[in-house]
Amino acid sequence: MLETVTLPPPEPLDLPHPGRAPDERLNWKTSWPMLLVHVLPLFAVFTGVTVRAVVLCVALYVLRVFFITAGYHRYFSHRSYKLARVPQFLMAFGGTMAAQKGPLWWAAHHRDHHRWSDTSRDIHSPQRGFWWSHMGWIVCDKYNGTDLDRIRDFAKYPEIRWIDKHNWIGPWVLGVASFLIAGLPGLFVGFFLSQALSWHATFFINSLAHVFGRRRFATEDTSRNSFLLAVVTMGEGWHNNHHYYQASARQGFYWWEWDPSFYVLRALSWVGIVKGLKTPPERVLQADRIRDGVFDIGMFKAHLNKASQFVEATEPAAVERVAVADAPGSDGLAARRRAVEQGLQAKKERLEGFVSGSLASAEELARSTRRGERELGLLEG
Ligand SMILES: [Zn+2]
Ligand SMILES: [Zn+2]
Repeated sequence: MLETVTLPPPEPLDLPHPGRAPDERLNWKTSWPMLLVHVLPLFAVFTGVTVRAVVLCVALYVLRVFFITAGYHRYFSHRSYKLARVPQFLMAFGGTMAAQKGPLWWAAHHRDHHRWSDTSRDIHSPQRGFWWSHMGWIVCDKYNGTDLDRIRDFAKYPEIRWIDKHNWIGPWVLGVASFLIAGLPGLFVGFFLSQALSWHATFFINSLAHVFGRRRFATEDTSRNSFLLAVVTMGEGWHNNHHYYQASARQGFYWWEWDPSFYVLRALSWVGIVKGLKTPPERVLQADRIRDGVFDIGMFKAHLNKASQFVEATEPAAVERVAVADAPGSDGLAARRRAVEQGLQAKKERLEGFVSGSLASAEELARSTRRGERELGLLEG
């Protein structure tokens, strides 16, 4: 008899959290020094803050962000200009001072980010949540190793492999120097505070630069351009520009797009240290503009991805339970049935929300296409 069927307790009707694999969870054992660096600047309460320490903090922030941006990112990851072997080593060493592991590790992982942007294989896509893209992927074990095949072009240099392996030297040199220059305030404010701030500047590019800002080019990912992020990261905020044309050493494509890392590289090219600086050709700048009605495939894919995740998560078992619970005469069953129905209704509404989001982008696209055609004189009115 249906009334006597014992049902298992109802499972939560919310989207089941995909959960993290063991190697995707925070590893305290290896991550505590990084977390401690965030606490150490507070010790300035006891030592006091000197002008010298503050100047040091600003200088070290700029220095670290520059070496990551111009070195680890635009040189080692994207080869957007050329360096002779000695400046190449100095660029690698400078990058290690930012305590973001070695250049080979950094660049190999970054190349993977571009290869798989915003797909399930993207190392730090914000589609997996802000925290994951910002820091989660770093404080877990999953991406500790380096696939040297992804960075063979630089792994062939023994001195680069050496500094990659001994990447602790840079931060230690900087830390000791900070103490010698400005004492304990120099250590806590000059060194540790600038360290924590420069970390987050870099992390923001992985997290916020795919969420916050505007899209100029129809790239296959969700990258965006933000002046604010460009200020914080010395020019990396033009992330949509960068995803669109990765070969360029210049990420602010126009004079008003603040890109100080590029200005320094250009100055270095005048004295012959930097060679073959790549910049985007005019025809590239004019192509694939969303404003001109080019289909924004990246955002469309992001909406679609969310929708399909939702469909996947809709639990078919819940529908079966409704059928079984349809037996007459039991208040408990009726209540449970209502709960299941409400859960399904909520899911349906959210799914509809995502679909209408996609349609809204399509409508926006159609409108801008019409505008673009009007401007070209192809359409009347
Ligand atoms: Zn890049
Ligand atoms: Zn990106």
